[in-house]
Amino acid sequence: MEVKCSICGRKEKITKVHKDYTKLARDTKAVFTCELCRSRLRYQALQSQKPERPI
Ligand SMILES: [Zn+2]
Repeated sequence: MEVKCSICGRKEKITKVHKDYTKLARDTKAVFTCELCRSRLRYQALQSQKPERPI
């Protein structure tokens, strides 16, 4: 099944072993994000969770 990343628009082929396969196959509105964007989002989330550095 071919899916498109909602962030960068990169197309990717996923198989049944993919953890989101059933979700994406069943729900057409399900959002797919590629590995690259996922790690970027995770990194950004981590950054925003960090407390402000004391000056
Ligand atoms: Zn992407």
